[in-house]
Amino acid sequence: MTDTRSDVIARPEHGLTRRDFVKVCTAAAAAVGLPAWAGEKMAEEVARAKPSVVWLHFQECTGCTESLLRSSHPDVASLILDLISVDYHETLFAAAGAQIEAAFDAAVERGGYVLVVEGAIPEKDGGIYCQVGGRKATDILRLAATKAAAVVAIGSCASWGGVPSAAPNPTGATGVPQILKGKPVVTLPGCPANPYNLLGTVLQFATFGTLPKLDAQGRPLFAYARVIHEDCPRRPHFDAGRFAAAYGDENHRNGYCLYKLGCKGPQTHANCSLLSFCEVPGAWPIGIGHPCIGCTEQGVVFNVPIHENLPIQTPTAPMAYPAIHPDHGVVASSPIAIGVGGVIVGAIAGAAVVATKKVGDSDKPARKE
Ligand code: SF4
Repeated sequence: MTDTRSDVIARPEHGLTRRDFVKVCTAAAAAVGLPAWAGEKMAEEVARAKPSVVWLHFQECTGCTESLLRSSHPDVASLILDLISVDYHETLFAAAGAQIEAAFDAAVERGGYVLVVEGAIPEKDGGIYCQVGGRKATDILRLAATKAAAVVAIGSCASWGGVPSAAPNPTGATGVPQILKGKPVVTLPGCPANPYNLLGTVLQFATFGTLPKLDAQGRPLFAYARVIHEDCPRRPHFDAGRFAAAYGDENHRNGYCLYKLGCKGPQTHANCSLLSFCEVPGAWPIGIGHPCIGCTEQGVVFNVPIHENLPIQTPTAPMAYPAIHPDHGVVASSPIAIGVGGVIVGAIAGAAVVATKKVGDSDKPARKE
């Protein structure tokens, strides 16, 4: 893990070509909403010094690491050898026992790393339910955080507790922000989280020294500002009132909207429909015919039954909006503007009613397309 960028370019069999390297950085920049030139800058910066990453595992299934390992652009070898320096990661290390504990202590001693935490942290009974090398998860996390330049909680477990915190939460599992109160923590919830969201966040920090803009739950807006329902490929079916009513029925086989099967897309903030997992188009729940379970939302996943319908908070668009044309001029507080505003508010209210009616009507046989 000590290769420099110039070594890798000189020995392309050990890594990416320069062109591929810039491409990966550009994709990571695009993932976090930065322009293409930021990719070039990231490539330059990473060539100079790869960001150091210390990755902790606590109560989890290692799904977020698995997702990272299965990304193909870059593949995991390029990721670790070329883009980031993983200075501690229990799953990826060949070493074990005393050797890996020494690597952790050495990394903490150096400091200045991006601390990535995967998994929930149990607090009940003094935190005895998760220990690594005889050290409690709470103590390891607090120690690692003292020397970290930035902290990222990857996955729903680390973000707020995830599945280990589901009722009755026997171990008192909670998330990184709850343990490190007062310290900025970027949360990337998801079960698993998309590795590009992590890569983009780490490379942005390493290059510009800044973290992405976050929402109230610490989630980067570039990935979590919109709900799945807004960018879902099945949305035209929702708007047209075409719903699958049962798995395997004709409407389901036709790829219709999954709302009636309990889809939580209308309340789930994530970019799954826009950023493919492991670069496989359609490789996400709705893409393969299962409703979204709301895995990025603390109040939804593991709280609301998978097949229970949620209310639509953002009404569907009406079939037609009032025309927008430059001739209409500036929408100020003129009587016309007030009238147009009234129409829009009325349309949104009406849309909610229409959405309810469409869902109610959806038991009728599907229209053959
Ligand atoms: S309800 Fe679910 S499947 Fe239907 S359009 Fe919205 S997000 Fe897509």
